[in-house]
Amino acid sequence: MLNDIFNNIAKCRYCDRSFCFDVAENKSSRRGLASSISATCKYCGSSHGSMTSNSVPAGYEVNLRFVYGMRCIGIGKSAAQTFCALMNLPPPPAKFERLYTPIFNALETASSRSMNVVPQYLSVIDPPSSEYSSKLSEIYKRSFSNVR
Ligand SMILES: [Zn+2]
Repeated sequence: MLNDIFNNIAKCRYCDRSFCFDVAENKSSRRGLASSISATCKYCGSSHGSMTSNSVPAGYEVNLRFVYGMRCIGIGKSAAQTFCALMNLPPPPAKFERLYTPIFNALETASSRSMNVVPQYLSVIDPPSSEYSSKLSEIYKRSFSNVR
């Protein structure tokens, strides 16, 4: 598929030919769901490669998102392996559980930041009064009282 896309839209910048690319994945460079893809010109041999995911401090973004997604739906490593196999995806990151910590840290930071601004928003609106929103009202009171 990638071969078709490259060959139908790109020209080699070194020899200016079209329909000249061999696109391949370097399977030994796989990191979980992140793959290394390279395009090599059949005529002049020039080559360019890239990973299929951005690198972030904890690894590759696709792996973090995958692990986070699996955890959000209550799935661990074993079920993630089954999912990847059935979807014909590369195996999930071998160090699946190691990604829990950076995900937890990011979630903790995001939730702290969002909870810090809640009182500012709540202070400009009236507390809910309907009987259906008693739970929200309780949260409102708790959040607002934490600021004072
Ligand atoms: Zn070329």
